[in-house]
Amino acid sequence: MRLAIDMTKCMGCMACEMACGYHRDDGFAFLSSSIQVYRSKEKKDYSGVMLKEDEYLVLSRPEGLEVSRIGAIEEDPEKEADASAKPLLLREGCDFCEAMDGGPMCIRFCPVDAITLGE
Ligand code: SF4
Ligand code: SF4
Repeated sequence: MRLAIDMTKCMGCMACEMACGYHRDDGFAFLSSSIQVYRSKEKKDYSGVMLKEDEYLVLSRPEGLEVSRIGAIEEDPEKEADASAKPLLLREGCDFCEAMDGGPMCIRFCPVDAITLGE
């Protein structure tokens, strides 16, 4: 099971990040979210979404999907140099909001239905 994010729909609003923080902490705390929006300093109007799973980091970007094993990121100096992913690696992996009535919070709060749950 994995969350899929359609980057042709995503507008980088961060509602998923806020909803996940609420799921984790019963408050709007971005620091505990398993999902994180990032923007590029180099490219205008560019954003992607990072998702921390238990063993993988999933990057959804306009140019495609990248799935990396977390141990491999920590061993790879080039990937580790990507500072934007570091805080996320320390957080809990997505649990698909299994204890929440109504299912994954990020899916429920995405205003453009960009997130789906697949196999
Ligand atoms: S499914 Fe739940 S735990 Fe996973 S990213 Fe979405 S809100 Fe966070
Ligand atoms: S809530 Fe939906 S549109 Fe907003 S950043 Fe997350 S995936 Fe993108």
